[in-house]
Amino acid sequence: MTIEKSYRTVIEPFIIKSVQTLRLTTREQREQYLKEAHYNLFKIKSQHVLIDLLTDSGTGAMSTEQWAALMRGDESYAGSPSFQRFEESVKDVFGFKYVIPTHQGRAAERILFSVMCKKGDVVPNNTHFDTTRANIEYRGAIAEDLVIPEGKDPKKIHPFKGNMDVRKLQRLIEDVGAKKIPLCMLTITNNSGGGQPVSMENVKEVKKVLEPFGIPLYFDAARFAENAYFIKLREGGYQDKSIKEIVREMMSYADGCTMSAKKDGLANIGGFIGTNDEVLAQEEKDLLILTEGFPTYGGLAGRDLEAIAVGLQEVLEEDYLRYRLAEAKYLGERLLEIGYPIVQPPGGHAIYIDAKTLLPHIPQSEYPGQSLSAELYLEGGIRTVEIGSVMFGKIDPKTGKETPAEMELVRLALPRRTHTQSHIDYVLEVAKDVYKNRENIKGMKITKQPKFLRHFTAEFEPI
Ligand SMILES: *Cc1c(COP(=O)(O)O)cnc(C)c1O
Repeated sequence: MTIEKSYRTVIEPFIIKSVQTLRLTTREQREQYLKEAHYNLFKIKSQHVLIDLLTDSGTGAMSTEQWAALMRGDESYAGSPSFQRFEESVKDVFGFKYVIPTHQGRAAERILFSVMCKKGDVVPNNTHFDTTRANIEYRGAIAEDLVIPEGKDPKKIHPFKGNMDVRKLQRLIEDVGAKKIPLCMLTITNNSGGGQPVSMENVKEVKKVLEPFGIPLYFDAARFAENAYFIKLREGGYQDKSIKEIVREMMSYADGCTMSAKKDGLANIGGFIGTNDEVLAQEEKDLLILTEGFPTYGGLAGRDLEAIAVGLQEVLEEDYLRYRLAEAKYLGERLLEIGYPIVQPPGGHAIYIDAKTLLPHIPQSEYPGQSLSAELYLEGGIRTVEIGSVMFGKIDPKTGKETPAEMELVRLALPRRTHTQSHIDYVLEVAKDVYKNRENIKGMKITKQPKFLRHFTAEFEPI
């Protein structure tokens, strides 16, 4: 069933049944909290945040059907019917032969790369997500980003900016040799590249390049349903197909996937590996037992498996996806009206502000994204995240010199089914004031940082 389409207003296709209170803080308080957090928004207590756009990961609202399913959760250690329902739902949507539950996406990544990668290997992707890159590098392998050039130009409008540059992929295989490439990944949608979709045509082309070399294709499938909806809207021949048909076709070109159910699983926790390879599946299950748990729960409670089983079906509903993309578009288009340079066109789950262009007076070495992110919090209690040189800057271990990231973005991620339009209108009001004051925003320096995934814990000081 879908909501009548002839009206222009895209409504939230749900009502609110349970609420969580929000509380405003004063500017003085936020100044203090920022200082205490060393200007790292990951270190701010969430009760001190008004509108939390840090991430869309695990922050969504579950449906009444999901809450009902939780009660059905069977917590048997082995062979739980909750696992059977989970497995059936994953297979129904994704079509892979083997399903291995994990507590979240990165656990799926760690297990997959532990089994498939060794030192010196190269793993191509459109753009590796931060934990994906870190897990590959932790194995001593190299993570190569091969997104099309349009995908790196925030202003360029292109319907599928998440596409992989297949010529670059071909060249990489020729340069390093197929033996060194244990698998190729495609992130759908391309989170770190602005939540941009990958076209079905591109998936097929990538598969065609890999096939003669026997290199398996895996999806980083966190936002598979949003990607499928973009295909339906933007790619010829898919207008009359259901989201499920599109998802199944995408998956039919892949040998497996990693999945964070905290995104398009519409759940607060969970993930899985899907694969058609029996031998790999067995090795992965052996590793799973070592760190995650028995293969019929993989670090999750039976009730979590139930919530994911339902969520994976709900996320295919077009009313939901239409509202989801409309929310991002609404925020994106109004930020553009204010004057913000954003990654265009708006992606599925978030809007990305191009902080390098917005704040030309702050050099990349002083992290303009981090500065903007701190300012949005200070001004209106809005939490966002930097996706730029703090997250992806590369430090030469010998010289200590830092190479900045290609883009300095600030992501405003939209939790699923969580905020109303007036929340978004508030964000826009705050953003307008920050925009007016942009010339006074100062750069940051890092005063303390760990060896990897530094953005989670690094400490900063305004310059
Ligand atoms: C969130 C995410 C992951 C990691 O999943 P977690 O559940 O956070 O561990 C991997 N890839 C992409 C594209 C993601 O968005």
